[in-house]
Parts: sequence; C-alpha cells; structure tokens
Amino acid sequence: MSDHRVAIIRDDRFLEHITGHGHPEHPNRLKAIYRMLDTDFPDGLLRINAEAATLEQLELVHTPSYIEKVLKTADYTFSSLAPDTPTSAKTYEAAWLAVGACIKGLDALLADRCDACFALIRPPGHHALPDRAGGFCIFNNLGVTARYAMKEHGLRRILIIDWDIHHGNGLNDLFYGEKEVLYLSTHDIGLFPYRGDWEETGEGEGRGYTINLPIPRELQDQEFLQLYHQILGPVFRRYNPELVLVEAGFDAYQDDLVGRSRLTEKAFRGLTRLILDLRAKINAPPILLALEGGYDPSCLSRSVKGVLEVLTGKDQEKHFDPNGSDLVVELLEKARRIHAKFRVWVD
Ligand SMILES: [Zn+2]
Repeated sequence: MSDHRVAIIRDDRFLEHITGHGHPEHPNRLKAIYRMLDTDFPDGLLRINAEAATLEQLELVHTPSYIEKVLKTADYTFSSLAPDTPTSAKTYEAAWLAVGACIKGLDALLADRCDACFALIRPPGHHALPDRAGGFCIFNNLGVTARYAMKEHGLRRILIIDWDIHHGNGLNDLFYGEKEVLYLSTHDIGLFPYRGDWEETGEGEGRGYTINLPIPRELQDQEFLQLYHQILGPVFRRYNPELVLVEAGFDAYQDDLVGRSRLTEKAFRGLTRLILDLRAKINAPPILLALEGGYDPSCLSRSVKGVLEVLTGKDQEKHFDPNGSDLVVELLEKARRIHAKFRVWVD
C-alpha cells in the first residue's frame, strides 16, 4: 500500500478526556503516538478529520438514557461512569468524537479514498455496553461503526479482529446472535472482564460467528502469529469479509503493566502483515483499525509505528516462522474441535 492510501485520524480533543493521576488510560498514551507520527511520518499519511458522531448513530447501539448520562458528566470537573472509568468535563466530547472518527474513517474507506485507516483515538470502546461504561470504555466505537456499516452501506459480512489482551465483551454481546459480524478475539481470560471462554461461540443465526481464543500469558510472538495464521486463513477464505475492523490494543506487550503478557512489536507487525496478505487473496476489503488498550506510552507508540510501517510498505518483512510449537498445536486443536460443528471456518 502506498502512503497516500493509508489514512490516520488524530485530534487533540482526545487529550481532553482527563482520567486523573495514576490512571493507566492517560492522555500521555496518545501524546506519545502523536509525537511519533510527527517524527516518523511527517507528511506521508493521508489525514482524515474527526467529527462527532450524531445522536442517531450512537443510538444504533446505546440507549437514550445512557447517552444522556454521558452528556451530564459535562457538568462536573471530575466524575465517573464506572468505578474504573472516570470522566472530566470534556470527556463527553472525546467519547462522541471517538465514535465519529471511526465512522468518518469507514466512510473514507468505502468512498475509496484510502485502503486502510487507523483511528488513533481515546477513550477505547470494546467493553462498552448499550447502557453502561466499564473497563475505561464509554461508547462502543467499533460496535456503532459496524452497525452503521450495515445500516447505511448495506454490508453483510464484517470481520472484527480484537487483538487487545482483554476480551471485548461489549462487541461479543452486541453481535452474538448475528452472522453479519464475525467477532474473533484473543485474550487473557484471567484479566478483566473475565469473559470470552472457548465455548462462547454465538447463538441462533450467529452460532459459530463468535470465535473466542483465550491465550496463555507466556505465549511468544511466533506462537501468537502461528495461531492467527492458522485461524485467520480459513476465516478470510470462507467468510470472505466485505470489511475488516481491528480492535488494535497493544496491552499484550511484554512491558505493559496492565496486560502482563510476553509479546513485542514484532507480533503486531507480523499480524498486520498477515491481515494484508489475506486481504490481497480475496476482494481486498478495506481495513479500519481503532486504538484500544496499551498502557506503556513508549511501547504503545513503538507498536503503532510498526503497524503503520507495515501498512505503508516501509516494512516488507514476513515476521513469521511457520514452525508451530506444541502449545500452539494444542490451542488450535481445541479451537477446531469446538468450532467444527458450525462449519463457519473449520474445513
Ligand atoms: Zn485491553
């Protein structure tokens, strides 16, 4: 992909969501990423401006009374929507803008202004429920975007890849009974929200269209990539997505204090490479990435840089060694055994 086919969305208004001293989801996360963009991508990337979501768009997922509750936080210098989700007076604006940024990115992708777009936003979204905040998330940024893609653009096969170390319970539950969205998540089930077990596979029409892969903390870069390689290959081939949404969280990084896993930026580079290669084998669906977790600002900006270098073609490496470990073989066998009966991706 050439530079001008890769877009980013950034906005200093995301920094106005102040969570307080010591909170891991801190404005410094985005400041580090924006500084990296100025240094490493001074003029190469297409820039899309964020716009606040409309009420109608938010209501595709969220209840009017919850939206009202978020709006009310504007009256207080400091308040909270959940014990782990504090707010400041400008939080509502950042939350509105985070959803709107993803929608704007989607519209740019579907208008063929770019092939990939990375929304560098906060607050994150994958834990947000229709009527509740939690896990630092306020609105379900990509959940609303997927609903919007179905309603306004008529899309019927949307793949969501959630590589954040936490399970995206909000997304999981939103699309649990639908086959129009295939949700795939790797996560540490011993962390918040303690959900996403192997057997959570969807219900009704959506049976088999939720793929939960709890991964052990000691998983290494190559094992992580082998797991994705073996599962995403058949998912792309058989589901043939019209759109790929990525919950790009970087808290599985080895130095991340919240995630406590073992990955490095090589895993995120390799996974981006894999998604691009698989995309090229089908009808080249557009890719929208939204920033989720990642709580060490320097690891976070290094990881985002890696993803952008692969997207723009500056990094052409495979980052992948096809020799599987016993641990990966075991995880794959379990995933295939549980999913075989649905015939969604297991041959
Ligand atoms: Zn996370």
